[in-house]
Amino acid sequence: MFEIFIDDDFSAAHSLKNYKGKCENLHGHNYKVRVFVAGESLDNSGMLMDFTELKRDVSSILLLLDHKCLDDVEPFDKTNPTAENIAKYIYDKLKMKIQTPGRSIEKVFVWETDKNCAVYYER
Ligand SMILES: [Zn+2]
Repeated sequence: MFEIFIDDDFSAAHSLKNYKGKCENLHGHNYKVRVFVAGESLDNSGMLMDFTELKRDVSSILLLLDHKCLDDVEPFDKTNPTAENIAKYIYDKLKMKIQTPGRSIEKVFVWETDKNCAVYYER
């Protein structure tokens, strides 16, 4: 099995609904994102996936969130913009872009701070 990952980041504001604590107030994070792609075979160039292509696909998704108030961005106007839900959002959008028979997105990490990270993957 081969696996690659890339890191990217974005900045956004959010507030948490149905939550009692300081995160119910509007505040911001510099989110860090790590995306893993896995597969059993390589292409003719010996790559699982071109890093440039993966970075471009991840960037295009993060652009939808960057410098936004997540509370106003679909689907976070209905679901809470937690790191867990953001990780699933990125996973689902990326899956549509890069899934091929021999390759799939493996997992997405979203750090809200250096010390707090949520991970989404499918079994
Ligand atoms: Zn927060």
